[in-house]
Amino acid sequence: MTKLIKFGGSSLANGDQYKKVINIIKKDKTRQIIVLSAPGKRFDDDIKVTDLLIQYAKAVINKQDYKDILNNIIGRYKDIADTYDISDDEFAPIVSIFNNLPKQKYPNNEYLLAAFKAHGERMNAKLMSIVLNHLNIKAKFVDPKELGIVVSKDDPNAADVLKETYENLGHFGYGNEKLVIPGFFGYTKDGNMATFARGGSDITGSIIANGLNIPMYENFTDVSSIYSANPKIINHPAPIKKMTYREMRELAYAGFSVFNDEAIIPAIKGNVTINVKNTNMPDEPGTLIVPEGSFQPEHPITGVSSSKHFSALYLHKYLLNKEVGITLKLLQIFQKYNISYEHMPSGIDDLTVIFNKESLDKITIKSLCKEIQESIKPDKLNWIDDYAIIMVVGEGMRDAATTISDIIDPITNENIPIHMINQGASQISIMIGTREANANQAVKSIYNEFFE
Ligand code: ASP
Repeated sequence: MTKLIKFGGSSLANGDQYKKVINIIKKDKTRQIIVLSAPGKRFDDDIKVTDLLIQYAKAVINKQDYKDILNNIIGRYKDIADTYDISDDEFAPIVSIFNNLPKQKYPNNEYLLAAFKAHGERMNAKLMSIVLNHLNIKAKFVDPKELGIVVSKDDPNAADVLKETYENLGHFGYGNEKLVIPGFFGYTKDGNMATFARGGSDITGSIIANGLNIPMYENFTDVSSIYSANPKIINHPAPIKKMTYREMRELAYAGFSVFNDEAIIPAIKGNVTINVKNTNMPDEPGTLIVPEGSFQPEHPITGVSSSKHFSALYLHKYLLNKEVGITLKLLQIFQKYNISYEHMPSGIDDLTVIFNKESLDKITIKSLCKEIQESIKPDKLNWIDDYAIIMVVGEGMRDAATTISDIIDPITNENIPIHMINQGASQISIMIGTREANANQAVKSIYNEFFE
């Protein structure tokens, strides 16, 4: 069974990390398809190569001197190449590609930025293929163009994969050699490079596993597993051995950042099992993310997380439930301001609309509230700026009759006011709205109830 393995930026940050990666590749012959990020941080205050490339692009756009940034970028690759005594001749193409980026033609500055960024992964995959061959491991660099990864062109720095990619991958043939593929970008129909959103190398792994029909996607990062709660809130939280796709989606939504949440979708569609593993401790089993069908939950809940980037609009109006068209009016106002909402729980006389705070600014909020006041004439309108959502997720939740009270009781025992509870739509999660200041305590109380 062929496996696809993907390594994140911290796994490829320097020569020592490269060595660990190569040991992992060597250890299992079935690890044939290798997807790479750009070199990430070597230490806490370090700068990822992707961010250096963004600086490089901006300096070019603003016609500033970029020599130091460029040397810094090339130096990151050169250090790795030196670990393996790669000759200057062999390394020369990487230097010249980085040097020549400003001379290429781009449709506009957004495309220029995307192409510069993409070269972090592109040159890393090139270098890895050089190093593997140098170590007598037959390997071939494969550009996303050869694979037929075609992406949308609305936003070249946050592109979406297009359907024909899967057809193209279906026709892609390969032999026994290792394929080394850069993550994070594809090509538009016009042949320009465009990247996924930040962290998007995971998406490439998922797309290729789906398109090449590979049942196992090992995603190597710098943690030994996905944990049932954020280790910054809970000391040594329980590791999750196995979870379902939709549990991962719901937890990722509310702050679990180990696996890019968008990235899971192509894997779900292809029924690909994902194994999140640690490059620094590769023998640990990690966390398996699997289809729902065969999954037997061990606990009533799998994880609890909190996310603080929300704000909420609270409306109160007598007989709100009888008034026809009120939500339509609201939605039309949101559309006018080009705002999407996250949730809209409602009662008889009350309605709360929860937004992603990051997409709103003070001026927009002010005029939005004014317009809603005039159009809907609520008895009460409050804007809550420090809203947090606690997400409790578990496939086992449906079978346990007392789960709801086991979740709510520990929060109320701590006197934490609950602003909203939403269970309805998804049977495997309960969403609780609190104030930001109470979010961590709420997570601790729920975690202790189920795991301690
Ligand atoms: N190198 C890109 C980033 O830093 C993509 C990735 O690492 O997944 O966002």
